[in-house]
Amino acid sequence: MSENLLLFGPPGVGKGTQAQRLSSVFQIQHIATGDMLRAAIQSYTPLGQRAKSFIDKGQLVPDDLVLDLLGERLQQPDTRRGFLLDGFPRTVPQAAELDRMLASYGKTLDRVIVLDAPEEELVKRISGRRTCESCQASYHVVARPPRVPGFCDRCGGVLSQRSDDSEEIIRNRLREFTAKTRPVIDYFVTHDWPVRMIDAAGNMDQIFGRIYAAILLS
Ligand code: ADP
Repeated sequence: MSENLLLFGPPGVGKGTQAQRLSSVFQIQHIATGDMLRAAIQSYTPLGQRAKSFIDKGQLVPDDLVLDLLGERLQQPDTRRGFLLDGFPRTVPQAAELDRMLASYGKTLDRVIVLDAPEEELVKRISGRRTCESCQASYHVVARPPRVPGFCDRCGGVLSQRSDDSEEIIRNRLREFTAKTRPVIDYFVTHDWPVRMIDAAGNMDQIFGRIYAAILLS
């Protein structure tokens, strides 16, 4: 079954964790703009260098940079069997451009999953987050610890804390979410995107169950 999915929600709500599981269950490509930007930074591309100053401050990267990255990615043949967008769109102009891109590539979204949780819970989740430097798998020191502390269960890579996961930067990211990203939900609704609101309180299995049901019970 081919599914084109979009996972939307504030930083720390668990998009990345759920996206990894969904993309493996549905056998679809996981497209995370945050991961793509971090990869561009690591390989010192000009785009990565421009994006870095924004990410380090907890600000959104300008739309033109993100749209360049995503437009190219969505045209790659591996997305034909389905994709899962994670962390995009994050502004109303990005949503409008996604609408235009999908129409021009002859694609539609089957489900838009909107996750939400209270702000203090988000801060707690992000500050305990650890990410594998090799495969980007995501852990939490309390909620989802790796079997061997400091190392990835999946590939053995080293786990580290993202530089933008400090408390001060997290607060900035949440402010950016409220100001620029939350209004995208209104865009989805007024443009009849197939939205389902999911409560992201609870453990990862419970949240996954809710998302899975929302996708299958279309
Ligand atoms: P999180 O959802 O936990 O904030 P991400 O990895 O999705 O983490 O994003 C990390 C950072 O990358 C964001 O704070 C932002 O600076 C940048 N970023 C990612 N996706 C976008 C986007 N679609 N538009 C603008 N900036 C983005």
